[in-house]
Amino acid sequence: MDFSYPLYEMPVVGIYLIVMAFLFGAIFASFITCTAWRVVRGEDWMLGHSHCDTCGHELSTADLFPIISYIALKGKCRYCGSKVPPRDLIFEILLGLLFAGTLAIHGSVDAIVVASLALEMLLLGLSLADWDSGVIPNGFLVAILVVWILTVGFRNDIQRYAIEGLIASAVVGLVMIIVTAIIGKVKKTKMSYGPAKLAMCLMLFLGIKGACIAVGVALVLGVIFVLVCRSKKRKIALAPAISLGVIAAFIAKDALLLLGIA
Ligand SMILES: [Zn+2]
Repeated sequence: MDFSYPLYEMPVVGIYLIVMAFLFGAIFASFITCTAWRVVRGEDWMLGHSHCDTCGHELSTADLFPIISYIALKGKCRYCGSKVPPRDLIFEILLGLLFAGTLAIHGSVDAIVVASLALEMLLLGLSLADWDSGVIPNGFLVAILVVWILTVGFRNDIQRYAIEGLIASAVVGLVMIIVTAIIGKVKKTKMSYGPAKLAMCLMLFLGIKGACIAVGVALVLGVIFVLVCRSKKRKIALAPAISLGVIAAFIAKDALLLLGIA
């Protein structure tokens, strides 16, 4: 199966689609940051109502527009006036830029880029959940696997893509499980296998070359995240480093294709 809409053949439509990608990024960031927050707190992530964390007042639709509501309300709760931390606003802008950038570098609207955007949204959600709670919720991993299965169905090179992904997943996963077990033995503490499970799911999308880039970037960022978590005396969260490594691999692959190098 294949559908593809080239972005740069009609520049006006291309620019329109990139702007739309930014808006969708902001909307999905708003959805996923809220979902991650509810999952961490054990709330119903589908049917729960958003509320102010200070006064508990239920938020109306007008309070929930990504970016716009925050600016219109000057970063304060409409009901009690308490300051709302700018974290969600920052992630709405970041995911918007990431969506727009991913589309621009990929150069066409097709199933692969839609899967990349879905994955980027899930990575933001699980990274926030890990940062806040030190746990990578399994629900996010299941969602990633669903995206992968759908992606495989849309690839022209199904067999090569699936085999390369499975090899990268098995190799990186095995190394991470062994390293986690050794650290657990040395430190005599129970280690979480969440990061290993996450890496196994994500390497499916990358194949061997992409996995090398992702692992390299994730290792450097992982050291930084461990140091930051230690200095803040909080649970170590590795999902943000792994996620950024995978996003770097995606962008690098598309950038090389765009430049005609790969
Ligand atoms: Zn309030």
